[in-house]
Amino acid sequence: MKITIHPFELRKRHALTISRGTIPSSQNLCLMVENEGIVGWGEMAPGSLTASPEALSKAQTAILNWAGKLQGVSAWDRQRIESLVDFREFPGALAALDMALYDWLGKRLDQPLWKLLGLDLQRIPRTSLTIGMNPPPRVREITREIVSRLNPSILKVKLGSPEGIEADRAMFAAAQESAPSHLKWRVDANGGWNLASAREMIPWLAGRGVELVEQPLPPGQEASLAQLSTGSQVPLFLDESVATARDIPPVAKFIQGINLKLMKCGGISEALRIIHTARAHQLQVMIGCMSESSLAITAGAQLSPLADQADLDSHLNLQQDPFQGATFVDGRVMPSQRSGLGTFPNWRATDAAPSPNASGA
Ligand SMILES: [Mg+2]
Repeated sequence: MKITIHPFELRKRHALTISRGTIPSSQNLCLMVENEGIVGWGEMAPGSLTASPEALSKAQTAILNWAGKLQGVSAWDRQRIESLVDFREFPGALAALDMALYDWLGKRLDQPLWKLLGLDLQRIPRTSLTIGMNPPPRVREITREIVSRLNPSILKVKLGSPEGIEADRAMFAAAQESAPSHLKWRVDANGGWNLASAREMIPWLAGRGVELVEQPLPPGQEASLAQLSTGSQVPLFLDESVATARDIPPVAKFIQGINLKLMKCGGISEALRIIHTARAHQLQVMIGCMSESSLAITAGAQLSPLADQADLDSHLNLQQDPFQGATFVDGRVMPSQRSGLGTFPNWRATDAAPSPNASGA
């Protein structure tokens, strides 16, 4: 197989601020696998706020290295490919390769991936739309803009402000008073609370109808979650604490669900392992995203019939999306009947943009 890569920039419509910082844009990478005359497409998005030009450059170097090892290997040989690429350091790069190989497989067999996996599109849950941290007047503006543009069913508010829980309460109240009363609410603290503030915030949020709270405490403090969930009606989910399937068993008894992301876990193959592991521990599964275009979002959407909750919204907060794929229908991110992932580039031939012949590995 031949692998080519092309970096591209995504600029957000609303810069996203979470407990650790602000993301106005991201440097992503498109990865193409060519074999037997068929091209599969994948995407890498930065895995955390620490993403830097150096991190992108390192990931590109890793992919170039993989490309060398995989020359002469068939895209059918998934077990062999997995043994040739090391992914712990570059899960986003592996996610791009893995989803490109699934796109290739679907195109080769002329079937959409969800159909190859035997999934039922009717089971796709509605997705949440994310409201980042901002001063209350800006939270009101963004909430109204998202509600009027996308008519969501569920909003997820980012809390865990460094300014403390009074700032969190003001932000959440500003969002809730700016949205129709029938909406459902989720909260993601991104590990921004300590045990004391989480103990105050979770009952307060329960009283405001919040249906789940994500990553209340920083990674490493999972054992303290037992003190939060006792007597709480709000299910607790972990995101930052759980990257791959092997992270689930040690934390399973403290939580009700996990947020799985292709960029954290290394792609669709590991996502399937995560789903099975979570089910074995009687946990719910949310499928989420990083700063992804419609390419990687559509890869997530292909698996979303297996999830209880969806949080696939990053492509809906872009100034320009370089890919088309899943459509937003009645609050759901829906893959199409097209083969593979069902994504295709959105740019004109005259744009300086990636193509299967672009320079790369
Ligand atoms: Mg999260």
